[in-house]
Amino acid sequence: MPRRHRRFTAGYALVLLGAFVLAIAASWMPLSDHVDDIAYDWMFLRQPPKPWPPSSIILGIDETTFEKMDGQSHLRQIIARGLELIEKAGPKAVAVDVILADDPKNPENAALEAAFAKTPNLVLSSDRIASIDRWEDPLPFFSRHAAALGHAHRLTNSVCRSIQLRQIAGHVRRWALALEAFRLARGAQYIEESPDSLQVGSTLIPVTTSEALLYIRYLPPLPDGASRIPEISVAQLAADPSLAESFRGKVVFVGVTAMSAAQDRPMTPYDTQSGVVIHAQAYETMAHGQFLVPVSNKSVIGICMLIGVLAGFIFVFTSGVQGYVFGGLLILAAHLTPHIAFTTGVVFPYTAPVLTAWFCVSAAASYMHFFVRRQLRDAERDKARYLEAIHMVSHEMRSPLTAIQGTSELMGRYTLSDDKRKQMAQMINSESKRLARMIQTFLDVERLSAGEMDLRTDSFAAQDAVEACLQRARPLADRKEIQLRAAQIDPWPLKGDRELMEYAIYNLLTNAVKYSPPNTTVTIAAHAEGSMLHLSVADQGIGMEPAELKNIFKKFYRTRKAETSGEVGTGIGLSIVEQIVTHHGGRIDVTSTPGKGSCFTIVLPRGTAPETAPASKMVSH
Ligand code: ADP
Repeated sequence: MPRRHRRFTAGYALVLLGAFVLAIAASWMPLSDHVDDIAYDWMFLRQPPKPWPPSSIILGIDETTFEKMDGQSHLRQIIARGLELIEKAGPKAVAVDVILADDPKNPENAALEAAFAKTPNLVLSSDRIASIDRWEDPLPFFSRHAAALGHAHRLTNSVCRSIQLRQIAGHVRRWALALEAFRLARGAQYIEESPDSLQVGSTLIPVTTSEALLYIRYLPPLPDGASRIPEISVAQLAADPSLAESFRGKVVFVGVTAMSAAQDRPMTPYDTQSGVVIHAQAYETMAHGQFLVPVSNKSVIGICMLIGVLAGFIFVFTSGVQGYVFGGLLILAAHLTPHIAFTTGVVFPYTAPVLTAWFCVSAAASYMHFFVRRQLRDAERDKARYLEAIHMVSHEMRSPLTAIQGTSELMGRYTLSDDKRKQMAQMINSESKRLARMIQTFLDVERLSAGEMDLRTDSFAAQDAVEACLQRARPLADRKEIQLRAAQIDPWPLKGDRELMEYAIYNLLTNAVKYSPPNTTVTIAAHAEGSMLHLSVADQGIGMEPAELKNIFKKFYRTRKAETSGEVGTGIGLSIVEQIVTHHGGRIDVTSTPGKGSCFTIVLPRGTAPETAPASKMVSH
């Protein structure tokens, strides 16, 4: 994969990951919990269960009961009276949602105890006192008659969506009042626990948390708003004892329904209810097997990850409007996920998938938007570079072309000796080969800087490359009477594109010759330092000012000294050298003193094994 693409992919993945993490973190905020609850209630109301005939009934102690039966202080007597009235009908189980933990001297205790004694499958409430982490149980003479004690979960004032089936205080575990009533109604002896369920007889109640949370699938109210679970008050029963028949074979929940006396009036997604009704509803959920199971955190993260990945793919494989359409569809799908899950009885939080979809789609879309803009900018730059390259090629090609042109003209115009003719033909041949090589080099450099070409990785002796360049530069040096000298060349191989590297070395040698006066020496040397090979070309020429040194690698830049010295360069050679060297993972250093000379050093990664040739060699030309 080209480097530019790799950088793009890594950046894109990072941005998406950031958006995903942000979305998940946001979905854990209290505000998101609140939104999840609102969405839950909305789905709950939109998808009510098909009503079923309830198997529970409420024996209520309402305002009229208190009025007719001497008020709240006679609560125990009222319960006793109610139980006596339904006794003959034979209820399946009776759960009393009244705390009977205090007042052992109450004169009504005896009557209530007697009523309890005659009540089969009796479940009494026990209350957890959080401050001392203990259960407050019914008075012993009451508990004695109970088949089970169940916790009457303290209901808060907000919407009651679930109850804790299991609660622990002081290492003593109590099941919910409704669960104990359900167990007794089913004739089960135990509640079998496993990490993800509670088993009562043949009924499996799926649970996830340690409190064994049970989502209550409320029986929807009747069209007139009345509860589907029948409610008969003790006063009504006293006035018409035949109503006792309604309690036959039912699970009875006994509790205060009077507004004035109720400790709390919790809300359900439908309406406001008294606490005892909530217990009956929880019982109905279990009795009818209408379970809603909360999805595990792992699954939430998994689905959200999938949404993030899809968002990423959408903007990679589609573009423009199409991308936005698919992105929008993904967001829509994320909004629908909790609804679809709900239809299958799974409670899926609303904010996590929705926030993930919004964040990831926005992040992917923005990244792509900026990427497209950058691509446009790159295209403009590439165009400019291309024009510059054409400019450069035409400049450099001029000298071999002039030579070919001149020589061929001479050959055509004059009669020449065979020897001369041969020499000229050779010259045309070598110059045209140089031209071809030059074009190839330019094209390679162009493709390299456009990131389109993978470098060839030949392994070749640095010495051989230096030798070849010296050969080629020698005629030029001879003409100026400059001595070319190869000092110590360490026997390490170089790794890379030999053609391009020779171009770089040759360029430094010809520059050194061009910008040096006659009768000076140009020295080339190579020594290894760590994993790099330092290849330097030093001259005793005109040198450069420090200010000029900064610019010499720019295209078409020529120093003032070079201009006045009469050398007509193109000002592009060094920019190519620098490109070649950096593409090979190396760098180029220069030191120079005006009037004294310059030293160009290219530092390149060397091959691994040294050659078997002699350790060093001195060559003089
Ligand atoms: P050209 O030599 O064709 O002008 P280059 O890119 O090779 O282009 O060099 C850029 C400029 O750097 C040259 O014009 C010259 O002014 C300066 N320069 C390069 N090499 C040397 C050197 N060895 N000594 C002094 N000046 C140099």
